[in-house]
Amino acid sequence: MVHAPARPLAGAPPVRINLYSDTQTRPTAAMKEAMMRAELGDEQHGDDPTVHALCDRMAALMGKEAAMFLPSGTMCNVIAILTHCGKGDEVVAHETSHILHSEGGAHAAFTGVQIMPLKGARGMFSADDVRAAIRPKTRYAPPQRLLEVEQTANIGGGAVWPLAQLNAVAAVAHEQGWSTHMDGARLMNACIAAGIAPRDMVASYDSVWLDFTKGLGAPLGAVLCGSAEFIGAAWRWKQRLGGSMRQAGICAAACLHALDHHVDRLAEDHANAKALARGLSQIPGVVVEEPDTNLVFFDVKEAGVDAAAVQQRLLMQGVAVSGLGGRLRACTHLDVTAPMIEEAIGLIREAVAG
Ligand SMILES: *Cc1c(COP(=O)(O)O)cnc(C)c1O
Repeated sequence: MVHAPARPLAGAPPVRINLYSDTQTRPTAAMKEAMMRAELGDEQHGDDPTVHALCDRMAALMGKEAAMFLPSGTMCNVIAILTHCGKGDEVVAHETSHILHSEGGAHAAFTGVQIMPLKGARGMFSADDVRAAIRPKTRYAPPQRLLEVEQTANIGGGAVWPLAQLNAVAAVAHEQGWSTHMDGARLMNACIAAGIAPRDMVASYDSVWLDFTKGLGAPLGAVLCGSAEFIGAAWRWKQRLGGSMRQAGICAAACLHALDHHVDRLAEDHANAKALARGLSQIPGVVVEEPDTNLVFFDVKEAGVDAAAVQQRLLMQGVAVSGLGGRLRACTHLDVTAPMIEEAIGLIREAVAG
């Protein structure tokens, strides 16, 4: 389920159409200008004005009391779990979740929690699934402390949890006295696709973070939000892990620029993803999931061809896609245009045909 890294392929031309991941966007000229103009201070010391501006804005956007700027989404998940849980506690999460598969074993290495993997279509589960996961509160069972969801669900195909379902699973967790955490790596994609304001989307979650390096196109940065008490406690872990920074405002400025200029345009990425899925669905032997957002997963097994072979043939044509668990994934983002999608459909057709 982990990304195979995009190794440069001997003899392959430079990548022209990069559908590998929305993490590969380059900062725009305007974003770089905003970074150059940023007022800076010492973030670790609490006096970088641009980081403060970003955190205030994110707290307001998410309807939470406080926010904290971190280098990456992975560090947001690690710090959130360290703050909510103690060693030996249990986190209930989907079996395809990023915390289980793509954080290098961070939760075993640093947080000491165990993760109970729940099943469910498209990276989501129901309130009944959570009820079925409740353990007796005995000295034998691991103490359950946290429910974690991903909005959008990455390996679930970029699926958008319906708001009612997000609230229903959180309600079961809260009834049990657990906290709730949302991995919002692509939260803005979900909000734009569903037409729901972020603060409403995350209202049932005690902590939530947004990644600025996915569809929002910043070079680094993620912001973790929660109560003032939670963020206060999280600061201890940020310091311990070396996530406290210095003139981080230069990066926070890119994130502020992304909030101003790269959120509404996510709708274009979703339209491009839908166009790509429609085109792929017409290729014999290709089975494609209808995307909710910007991730298009497709399977080429029925065409009698190996996914890795298709991926390599595409690289020889200057098109990058990623391979995940035997399927291929194409991801739209701000460096991918509608004409590129049309061209990619034709090249994928040829690559599948051999
Ligand atoms: C990318 C991603 C992360 C990790 O974010 P980084 O900024 O790459 O550390 C976590 N969860 C999900 C669902 C992701 O897609």
